[in-house]
Amino acid sequence: MAITDRLGRPLGNLRISVTDRCNLRCAYCMPERDYVWLPRADILHFEEIGRLADVFGSLGVDRIRLTGGEPLTRQDLPRLVQILAGKPWLRDLAMTTNGVLLETHARALRDVGLHRVTVSLDTLRPERFRELTRFDELPRVLRGIEAAVRAGFAAVKLDTVVIRGVNDDEVVSLLERAKGWGAEIRFIEYMDVGGATHWSRERVVSRQGILRAISDTYGQIETLPTQGSAPAERFRLADGTIFGVIASTTAPFCQACDRSRLTADGLWYLCLYAARGLDLRGPLRAGASDEELKTLLAGAWKFRADRGAEERLGLRERSPLVDVADLQKDPHLEMHTRGG
Ligand code: SAM
Repeated sequence: MAITDRLGRPLGNLRISVTDRCNLRCAYCMPERDYVWLPRADILHFEEIGRLADVFGSLGVDRIRLTGGEPLTRQDLPRLVQILAGKPWLRDLAMTTNGVLLETHARALRDVGLHRVTVSLDTLRPERFRELTRFDELPRVLRGIEAAVRAGFAAVKLDTVVIRGVNDDEVVSLLERAKGWGAEIRFIEYMDVGGATHWSRERVVSRQGILRAISDTYGQIETLPTQGSAPAERFRLADGTIFGVIASTTAPFCQACDRSRLTADGLWYLCLYAARGLDLRGPLRAGASDEELKTLLAGAWKFRADRGAEERLGLRERSPLVDVADLQKDPHLEMHTRGG
């Protein structure tokens, strides 16, 4: 049974954050010195995630992306992939990772049924990588991408958050490197999500700015048709190279958004910018039946009218979404808890 929200958007795509922990500290996502972590006892077991996934599947979800935090820091992740890959209703199973641990896990993940991998890569310069993430892990990330390419996933993609004065001079070199790997790269506008406490409008390189930097080097860029609810607009260079731009900040795509997010402790967010999530762990652990969970989910989705990114765009004064004191009171406001 497929259901739609108040704006006619189906429930199609579920992002499951498997942990709030991360082994990097990217300046645009986790810039603080200390974090409040989710209590371990609250973290959903794989069987619980699998059971909730089936309920989501019964309401129309057919694509799942595993994320975090850093999903590969979750112990035994291939077992969860195996559980999910066996779901007959699932059309697409993907993962977003920073790539640090990918070299070790790529083959096993492919073998148990992960379809696609997206690796976040913001720079090719070791010094800059260390400054941006606080860890000296660029060589491992690059080896991780190579291992993913060798493992033969249906697709390996790269995600690059472009920040003025940080890495906006690397758009072309990243595109070239992606081409060498046969990976499609998507350039993401810097977003004012929870966690991005250093965000400012001036640091956003817009979709137009990104395209200008690319056309200055490659000449004409062809715009490709949009693909359903996919967040990236896709473009083609004269030599056939395809790349994407995710303009969540300057040209949000709320109208086509069929995504929702499940946190590692079982809160369900209907919008990346939502103030609150719906607790699914409570009813799940209290013994709710599948039918009861389904009623709970369907009831919430039918009332969904969120257009978080579009509402942010309408603001005259725009600054970080949440200040540090509030983030520390509620880790669920963080991007690394909700999953990117
Ligand atoms: N650890 C994994 C990774 O690095 O890909 C998955 C989690 S991370 C939160 C998911 C995605 O969110 C990454 O591609 C990251 O670049 C993106 N992200 C985090 N903060 C962002 C921000 N302020 N603006 C745009 N993208 C952001």
